[in-house]
Amino acid sequence: MPVPILCHECRQGRYQVQGPDSYDCRVCGSLVTAAAFPLGDDERLVVLADILQALSVPEGHQVATPDRRCHAPHLGASLALALRFDETRPVYPPGTAGAAAELLATLDADERGPWVLSPAHLDALTRAMDVRYAALPSASRQYPEFDAEIRNAHARSRAHRT
Ligand SMILES: [Zn+2]
Repeated sequence: MPVPILCHECRQGRYQVQGPDSYDCRVCGSLVTAAAFPLGDDERLVVLADILQALSVPEGHQVATPDRRCHAPHLGASLALALRFDETRPVYPPGTAGAAAELLATLDADERGPWVLSPAHLDALTRAMDVRYAALPSASRQYPEFDAEIRNAHARSRAHRT
């Protein structure tokens, strides 16, 4: 879960986006850039609802940020279809369908993201996209840019593993 960063000056306000790489405190107006926030290897800065937040990203995980409301249901539809298919003809290697079900629940609970996806989640998701798009080619034309973002994240997670 992302955690809002508290103002370094007044310790009360949160930072809102002021310009490119510039954030100001909502309470005292103190102005900073991202360089003011030293982050660990497993942390990223994200802006959610206009507020600067720190997001914890474990090693090998990738962040996917939906920029449209329909992105969560779009991915969810692929996962739901793949899980349904998996009951009659195997879509997922033994023991891996759980990651798909878990991710589906995550997307239902948090439509706005950003989502921190494990390599197992990304495997399950891209497999689900392949299944859905083979069955419903029109679905693959709905959000090609977002789909490409997911496939790139999957590729990065695989590169990390080897
Ligand atoms: Zn402040």
